Amino acid sequence: MDDMMTITFLGTGTSQGIPIIGSDHPVCLSKDSRDKRLRVSVLVSWNNYNYVIDCGPDFRQQMLANPIPRLDGILFTHEHADHTAGIDDIRPFFFRQGDIPIYAHQRVIKSLKKRFDYIFADKDRYPGAPAVIVNEVEKGSTIGLGNINVVPIEAFHNRLSVFGYRFGDFVYLTDVKRVEEEEIKKMKGAKILVVNALRSEPHHSHFNLKEALDFAEKVGAEKTYFTHISHLLGFHAEVEEKLPENVFLAYDNLQLKI
Ligand SMILES: [Zn+2]
Ligand SMILES: [Zn+2]
Repeated sequence: MDDMMTITFLGTGTSQGIPIIGSDHPVCLSKDSRDKRLRVSVLVSWNNYNYVIDCGPDFRQQMLANPIPRLDGILFTHEHADHTAGIDDIRPFFFRQGDIPIYAHQRVIKSLKKRFDYIFADKDRYPGAPAVIVNEVEKGSTIGLGNINVVPIEAFHNRLSVFGYRFGDFVYLTDVKRVEEEEIKKMKGAKILVVNALRSEPHHSHFNLKEALDFAEKVGAEKTYFTHISHLLGFHAEVEEKLPENVFLAYDNLQLKI
């Protein structure tokens, strides 16, 4: 792909965000803007295309902070609320553009239909409810978005299968605890890898820092950025100082160009 791609981190926090409501943890009280993390999402833009991966509860605030004239679609990693709860806030895009394409595993679509039945309703639609065009994502397939083919990558979030996505030289994975060798091959040669690193302590469904570092080394991207970060990982500035020179902590509103 020859076109310049821009990656904007819309949110880099774990499910409660940072600060956590009511918390007096030092990281939650930090004055460093990089320690304030909305729920994870990323905007991928090239030519005039804009796609977001996940649409969590902070979607509205993220779109106000990083305005785009048009949203071409949403790719979902999985159905957890921190990745999906903002879907009602696609309404401004829906009013201007019409039905918004979404891309997700069949299981995720089933979950969205149950929780946001009014968005998917065929009849007796509430006036003003947003509508979507459903595209099922299957392992082993590719997704044609604009002029590129996006490759879904399967990973495991404890026992739940989740999708990461490869856009050209950019790979985005979150909520991962395990990835099979066959899927790791799909990441080879990537320039930028984004993957979750929750905290130092182990967790049943997320990479901790050590696991994320091992994974970054295994994939071997030119640069790796960590996301889905808990306040328990520590202060951004202190953690980043200890990372290898091609590994970084992402932070909200960080932009990368490829
Ligand atoms: Zn999550
Ligand atoms: Zn999750």
